[in-house]
Amino acid sequence: MIKPGAVRNKHIGHILSKIEEAGYTIAAIKTTRLTIDQAADFYSVHKDRPFFQELIEFMSSGPIVAMVLLKDNAVEDFRRLIGATDPAQAAEGTIRRLFATSKSHNAIHGSDSDENAEKESSFFFSRQEYLRKDIVGTEES
Ligand code: GDP
Repeated sequence: MIKPGAVRNKHIGHILSKIEEAGYTIAAIKTTRLTIDQAADFYSVHKDRPFFQELIEFMSSGPIVAMVLLKDNAVEDFRRLIGATDPAQAAEGTIRRLFATSKSHNAIHGSDSDENAEKESSFFFSRQEYLRKDIVGTEES
């Protein structure tokens, strides 16, 4: 998910380029805006953390871009592509290092396990709305 700050700063195109250059297939994509309740539901695992209120207010503050991405080893490689939660700690060239403005406004969310990737995909999309691995075509040469 591209977060509201990066959408506001017109970084959607740059971030999608990085994702495709890293070998991901975009299996589903849409812009939407979360309500505060939807943001609280999405981040419910963090509900007891001190930054929870700030997090859900930010996540519902403007449009986001939700995506389902396909690639071998997608979750682990995506964590490496986006970089550490705090952009100040994120490696050179990572999406957060390039486009995040702070730890709370950190440009992008990535699922932290295959199981959560499935759950988070169905949070935004029905199964009819995204390509499964078996129907993605092969690359053009
Ligand atoms: P992620 O997997 O790298 O996104 O990090 P987490 O799952 O730990 O946290 C979820 C989101 O909560 C992060 O992407 C940040 O937007 C926010 N967050 C995490 N830790 C902090 C913190 O210490 N302070 C603030 N303000 N936000 C935080």
